[in-house]
Amino acid sequence: MSTESEFIPIMKPWMGEAEAEATRRPLLSGWVTQGPEVAAFETEFAGYTGAQHAVAVSNCTTALHLALLAVGMQPGDEVITVSHSFIASANSIVYCDAVPVFVDIDPHTYNIDPNLIEAAITEKTAAILCVHQIGMPCDMQAILDIAYKHDLPVVEDAACAIGSEIQFNGEWHKVGQAHGDIVCLSFHPRKVMTTGDGGMLTTNNPEYDKEFRLLRQHGMSVPDTKRHTAKEVIFEEYTQLGYNYRMTDVQAAIGREQLKRLPEMVEKRRYFAHRYEEALSEIDGLLTPQEPDWARSNWQSYSVRLPQNCDQKAVMQYMLDHNIATRRGIMNAHSEPAYQHIEWRKAGNLQHSEAAQQECILLPLFHEMTEEQQDRVVDNLAAAIKENAA
Ligand SMILES: *Cc1c(COP(=O)(O)O)cnc(C)c1O
Repeated sequence: MSTESEFIPIMKPWMGEAEAEATRRPLLSGWVTQGPEVAAFETEFAGYTGAQHAVAVSNCTTALHLALLAVGMQPGDEVITVSHSFIASANSIVYCDAVPVFVDIDPHTYNIDPNLIEAAITEKTAAILCVHQIGMPCDMQAILDIAYKHDLPVVEDAACAIGSEIQFNGEWHKVGQAHGDIVCLSFHPRKVMTTGDGGMLTTNNPEYDKEFRLLRQHGMSVPDTKRHTAKEVIFEEYTQLGYNYRMTDVQAAIGREQLKRLPEMVEKRRYFAHRYEEALSEIDGLLTPQEPDWARSNWQSYSVRLPQNCDQKAVMQYMLDHNIATRRGIMNAHSEPAYQHIEWRKAGNLQHSEAAQQECILLPLFHEMTEEQQDRVVDNLAAAIKENAA
């Protein structure tokens, strides 16, 4: 029974004995940081997405940083992206001393509006950073057409989008197959599969793959694993400024188990998303998310737009008072205090981005959720909207 006193969280990682058991391998082997488990996870992950190369890193934010460095970001360069995203998307641009150029979103998919990209391009534009927001694929075909025309690299922020699919040249592909030049993914517990923290870069370009392996390990010419097993003495070199952006073997061991669960995770999320869609269509004025024909979301988050003039915070408070967690719509980086002191530019206005933050809320969706719990969310949302409608 889902009683009123039982708290329903927004998300809960789905882990079990398999993950706990897997951590025994690195813990008992003596090799705990980046090593054989990371290498195996990368191979299995590349296999899942269909990308030729996968490189594990400490999180998706560091993945984004390395991706932008690899495509040649220089101080003062501009990167076209959205403000309407988790702040790490824009921050990664700023780490390169480059300038985020924010364009507005499509109010239906909440992703970058491809029709606005061309007008944002200047001679300083060095890349497009698109975001598959909360797992909903962005329109890669349209974005890539513009990128090819202007000879711009495309980095995909797919932090939330493992398991999402996109139709490409008439076939269904996994996001992460690397439709753009580089894809960055996250294994934070708020995403779909988790390693505690963790990230992955995928690409079909062997040069980028090589670059990521160097940069994540201090720019060191010889990997630890190679030096460890060498029969002759090897002196390493540090060929360029690198970072410590490694994933540990403990995390990778967990990731390998999570990857096995991923198809079932996505299936469950799609089941509950479909169930939300049916139940919520009864609520007047509430807008549910819609997949374009060419996209299948993993439903990393389920976001609804409240009826016009409905008080967002009051609805969220009502839900919390009834022991149900919700979250405000996706943030906009340009509205945050940090961005009052950071150089950025907007191309056109950001009205749809701002409206989405103010009018949307995210509802609980996790793999072990029960139908009873979901019904409680729906019933309480209906009551909350009724009470707080203007
Ligand atoms: C979560 C998230 C990130 C950051 O991922 P971490 O692994 O936590 O660094 C970046 N971009 C988007 C869109 C995200 O949702």
